[in-house]
Amino acid sequence: MANTLGIVKPDGVRRKLVGKILTKIEEAGLILRGLKVLKLTKVDAEKFYAVHEGKPFYKPLVEFMTSGPIVVMVIGGHASIERWRDVMGATDPAKARYNTIRRDYGTSIEKNVVHGSDSPETARMEVAFFFREDEILPKEAK
Ligand code: UDP
Ligand code: MG
Repeated sequence: MANTLGIVKPDGVRRKLVGKILTKIEEAGLILRGLKVLKLTKVDAEKFYAVHEGKPFYKPLVEFMTSGPIVVMVIGGHASIERWRDVMGATDPAKARYNTIRRDYGTSIEKNVVHGSDSPETARMEVAFFFREDEILPKEAK
């Protein structure tokens, strides 16, 4: 029952998709355990995407991720990491399954509206990147 990190990227916030994305999370039976609106600094965006440093899309990605406010979410529930990635769809919206967020709302492989952690280890790191322990709703909370 590990938590995962979700982000509505600047394109999603700009296009007023936050409500629709939260609805998808609720309808999937996932649990919202933390929520913030913020704007990433360049330094933080570089740190957050450090695994991609050196790749051709790294600099434009950092630029894009700092281009406007984002919404960061702690998402819990059974198999939250896999299930949130399933609700998001594949990285490239053109290749994502129908009825996924990226397929329905993504406009390019970069501007794909949402982020989700990809493993238990990255989920732990990414949640801690944005949230203190006391900002996350405990699992036993009803
Ligand atoms: N990205 C990109 N071009 C690529 C691959 C990725 O612009 O060829 C961007 C895209 O926004 C993606 C992010 O970099 O969501 C992180 O890439 P990753 O491979 O981790 O995909 P994800 O885990 O987000 O599906
Ligand atoms: Mg990734």
